[in-house]
Amino acid sequence: MIHIDASQGEGGGQVLRTSLALSMVTGQPVLLEKIRARRPRPGLMRQHLTCVTAAQALSGAQVEGATPGSQTLRFTPGPVRGGEHHFSVGTAGSVMLVLQSVWPALMLAESPVRLTLQGGTHNPMAPSFHFVERAYAPLLRRLGAPAELRLRRCGFYPGGGGEIEVDLHPVGPEGLQPFDLTERGALLDQQAECLVPGLKRSIAERELEVLRGQLGWTFDHSTIPVTRQNEGPGNALLATLRHEHVTEVFCAIGEKSRSAENVAGDVARQVKRYASSAGALGQYLADQWVLPLALAVWRSGRAARYTCTDVSLHAATNFSVIGQFLPVRIDTRPLPKGQGVQVEVKPPGDNAP
Ligand code: ATP
Repeated sequence: MIHIDASQGEGGGQVLRTSLALSMVTGQPVLLEKIRARRPRPGLMRQHLTCVTAAQALSGAQVEGATPGSQTLRFTPGPVRGGEHHFSVGTAGSVMLVLQSVWPALMLAESPVRLTLQGGTHNPMAPSFHFVERAYAPLLRRLGAPAELRLRRCGFYPGGGGEIEVDLHPVGPEGLQPFDLTERGALLDQQAECLVPGLKRSIAERELEVLRGQLGWTFDHSTIPVTRQNEGPGNALLATLRHEHVTEVFCAIGEKSRSAENVAGDVARQVKRYASSAGALGQYLADQWVLPLALAVWRSGRAARYTCTDVSLHAATNFSVIGQFLPVRIDTRPLPKGQGVQVEVKPPGDNAP
């Protein structure tokens, strides 16, 4: 049984999600204590409970402590099952975070999996559907774990009601293949999109206009995708930067009291921050990429590295939890000014500097 102090580092929901994912992958039971202890509303919230329910159903796990507000969870997984599964958060909680907590185990399952998930698809402080589809999934595909994601309906806070469908295919006989990702490569395309289901089109026009102004992008760089009235009310402004080796997606979520200028300013700041560094991955992709990469390094016995704009406390916490489940070493090294940070994941016994 692995004991995890879930209040370590940033002490957020990520400690739970990474622990569930790696408990399922390695078959090791886990005991989590002090879950989200320092958050204003500590313990398991709806989104976290859906992660536990999904992980339990997919691995036939024995679970104790999966109740709202619980700060202790005991999770003993069984073998992971493929097939078709459906999970609903029941609120606007992020389905993308639920997906990421079971994806690592499902990509190593022996048979294909189809997941239908209902809840929020575009949430503040969580990866958006478009981020996972365009930035995260292609990296997993390159690792040898193909997946297709479909957005059936957008879901925003507070209504929720979004739906995604995900097909995960088993890793081929050659297994996961870790690779270095130290450069973005040439910029191939940049696009801004504004989702405004159930709201006035003029909101999107205003946000895109401010964003174009702040980034010096032209009109051809922006679109207002068609959405249905009943997918809202909701607003997400997205900027996608497609480079040769990596795609990044920056997103801000509008809400009633937030001005269009503020939403656009938020996305513009994120894009400028990324542009000010040569690190291949932005802050969020950097904390999410490490888990699948660590799995690939562990299973293949080959080291791999990536560069990123910075290593957040969130990422550092994730590195530490991963190190409690997998025999890998994660080293970070600041690079010369403007180059970002290098993260290297090494298999056991690799002591090369
Ligand atoms: P808590 O409420 O306990 O803080 P939580 O379960 O809601 O936790 P976090 O632990 O903060 O969530 O984790 C949020 C995850 O969402 C992180 O992996 C982070 O990289 C990702 N994330 C947050 N904002 C974005 C964004 N704009 N784009 C992509 N990913 C994001």
